[in-house]
Amino acid sequence: MQNEQCPKCGVDPGQYHESGCDVEQCPYCGGQLISCCCDDVPPLDDRMPWTGLWPGVDECREFGWYATPGPRGWVPCGQDEPGLVMEDLNRLHAQARWDRRNKRFVMRKLGMSQFWRLIENAKEASGGDCGRQVECLSGNLSELTVEEIVGFDENLYELRHLLNRDDLWAVAADIHDGRCSDDGFDYFRGWLIAQGVEMCMRGLLDPQSLIGEVTPVAWCEGILYVAKEAYQLKTGLDMEEVWENWPPVCRTAARLVAASGQAELSRYL
Ligand SMILES: [Zn+2]
Ligand SMILES: [Zn+2]
Repeated sequence: MQNEQCPKCGVDPGQYHESGCDVEQCPYCGGQLISCCCDDVPPLDDRMPWTGLWPGVDECREFGWYATPGPRGWVPCGQDEPGLVMEDLNRLHAQARWDRRNKRFVMRKLGMSQFWRLIENAKEASGGDCGRQVECLSGNLSELTVEEIVGFDENLYELRHLLNRDDLWAVAADIHDGRCSDDGFDYFRGWLIAQGVEMCMRGLLDPQSLIGEVTPVAWCEGILYVAKEAYQLKTGLDMEEVWENWPPVCRTAARLVAASGQAELSRYL
């Protein structure tokens, strides 16, 4: 299969897809280039050529994620299960993290459901006070492994990135008397994440709906450093060294609409 041409546009492995080919993967989010929500059009040297394998298949094989048809849809199975066995791309898109630097999916070090549970438990325990929530979160992070703490920060970083949108920035300014600096917008995004998955998704899908419902000072700066501090306490090292391996935060996703946006968001739920 490795030497086959792209099933849609017919190019050979190693070549760039023809313009508009729906097999081509977006280098910024790992989704389908023609339908993903990223605003940036990748320059040629960033584009992902056809490899001979359907996007994501290689990662599924690496992680051992396969599925077989069951009575009510596809179910996870081992590679050697009798009958039809395919790489589990649905699971890949739902659970793995897109690594922009290496342009491939990687396993999350901390699952999104655990990430949100940590955020929401801390919120509940703090009665909605951001300072107390960060303290509480910090206590709970100290009980995780170093790997999981880094995973927490990777998830947070991705969400900050996802929320880095002009329409949300305008909403943040609206809430704060018409003004919101770069830093202020970062603290606003921290606040939004601190509210939990529901509010965060609402901010992404319908930012305008936050106006009028959100308290006048919607900042949470502390949450942005909570993992960095937990990491430092645990290892004596600076998280900056880990950060250096991460790609820069650039802006994406100004239009998260309809089905494609929802599908991409499912990775963060
Ligand atoms: Zn193609
Ligand atoms: Zn994309």
